[in-house]
Amino acid sequence: MDLPRLHASKLIQRLGSNDPFELCKAKNITVVYEDLGNIYGYFYKANRISSIHINNRLNEFLARFTCGHELGHNELHPKMNLPFLRQSTLFSISRYEREANHFAVHLLIGENMPFSDETIKHFLLRCGIPQEFHCFYT
Ligand SMILES: [Zn+2]
Repeated sequence: MDLPRLHASKLIQRLGSNDPFELCKAKNITVVYEDLGNIYGYFYKANRISSIHINNRLNEFLARFTCGHELGHNELHPKMNLPFLRQSTLFSISRYEREANHFAVHLLIGENMPFSDETIKHFLLRCGIPQEFHCFYT
């Protein structure tokens, strides 16, 4: 199992939830909504206090994924403050962004399994993963 996926499954096991917002609560991470223009969100850590900032223009679906993505940075790259850019072209994005997306996909999947007649696309949407991030399901 790769590292982002392993971290996601450990976090789910440890805290008993795969809901990014509940996990933030359990980990004392403040979630702040604000108008961030072109940015989905960012993660900020200072003096050991973490906060996740989410663009208040996002719908619930994208906000949840963004929260999972930023939680991924908290688990995987706690020392980096990276903006989660909208349409941040899959080709140019950094390793850290890919890992955070990968983490978020596996966090939201959690214990869910595809139905026998279900397409991957339908399965991932059912888990709350916006289509533009399905390419991070591996
Ligand atoms: Zn990011």
